[in-house]
Amino acid sequence: MGEGASAAAIIDETGLQALLDALRARGFSLLGPTLRDGAIVYDEIDGVADLPRGCGDEQDGGHYRVTPRGDDALFGYAVGPQSWKRFLHPPVLRLWRARREGDDMRVETDPETSEKYAFIGARSCELHAIAIQDRVLIGGEHVDPHYRARREGVFVVALNCGVAGGACFCASMNTGPKATFGYDLALTELIGDGRHEFLVEIGTEAGGGLLGALPHRGASASEIAAAQAVVEHTAATMGREMQPDVAALLARNLEHPRWDEVATRCLACTNCTMVCPTCFCTSVEDTSDLEGRESARARRWDSCFTLDFSYIHGGSVRSSAKSRYRQWMTHKLSTWHDQFGTTGCVGCGRCIVWCPVAIDITEEARAIAESEAKGGER
Ligand code: SF4
Ligand code: SF4
Repeated sequence: MGEGASAAAIIDETGLQALLDALRARGFSLLGPTLRDGAIVYDEIDGVADLPRGCGDEQDGGHYRVTPRGDDALFGYAVGPQSWKRFLHPPVLRLWRARREGDDMRVETDPETSEKYAFIGARSCELHAIAIQDRVLIGGEHVDPHYRARREGVFVVALNCGVAGGACFCASMNTGPKATFGYDLALTELIGDGRHEFLVEIGTEAGGGLLGALPHRGASASEIAAAQAVVEHTAATMGREMQPDVAALLARNLEHPRWDEVATRCLACTNCTMVCPTCFCTSVEDTSDLEGRESARARRWDSCFTLDFSYIHGGSVRSSAKSRYRQWMTHKLSTWHDQFGTTGCVGCGRCIVWCPVAIDITEEARAIAESEAKGGER
């Protein structure tokens, strides 16, 4: 992917539909936001008609509602419960199966997917999350072939955020709200005062080539400034913020009493890890039919919040909710730097919104920072 925009154009809704049609004609499966069961989820879409027109959302700790905006915006909401992780690193993936054939056993592996995805409306925080998973799953010595097959050839149409969710804190993590890398084309929705258009920035040659085939016009300086104002407003109205130097803060406070306090509320339900776009842990599971003729091994998302996850001979390493919450939060925000050279959190806020008891990673960090500032226990 290229490093940011090199040109800007304007398209309208017809141009957006033409973009989606052109991607499909080039063999891409279109994945984008759509309204389902009261939430905005990522799924297959056919065109503009499948986008959540006129939808906004309310997001806070343990709270999510889709709300009407009163206009025709197509991207007027923050991130929903899902991330692109579910397509690149699926929740369940069969690795192989074995079938008894007479006296023989036949082992079959499923072929890697040959599907080419186009992600429509990927946010800046999500591009950072994909970059983090790239580093973990294909950037090292041990490459995950399933992730690589899905990741290669993804066409990304990014969306610079026009609204901040109540739990978003990407601005304080330097991961948004404007996409700066990892996209082929990036859109900013310009709506109001009788207009509804999209400023399009080009991130790659492939993106530029596609844009050239669509009905578009060059963006004026005032339109580029208007798009910049959209993301500046989003950054200024962000719901939450992360403490500066949180990695060192947590590393200094591994025995802080706040870990006991949060453990009294944490249900160890795993929701935070399931919705997190960077969590990548999996376990394998073997199943067999009742006749003993066929068996299969599948990989499925797992979570550091389960007791089994850290089970080794004799017991679980992290047997208390305190130790599991501390492991998750310190890994995301502190030890991820030691392991992978970056943060493991992109500030999307999903773990706050989808925690049933509204535990808030920014609030936990703030509580520790404030107690430290008052000379509290480290
Ligand atoms: S922090 Fe919240 S979402 Fe995560 S395991 Fe605990 S209760 Fe569940
Ligand atoms: S830890 Fe929470 S805020 Fe950070 S990336 Fe994961 S879900 Fe988003």
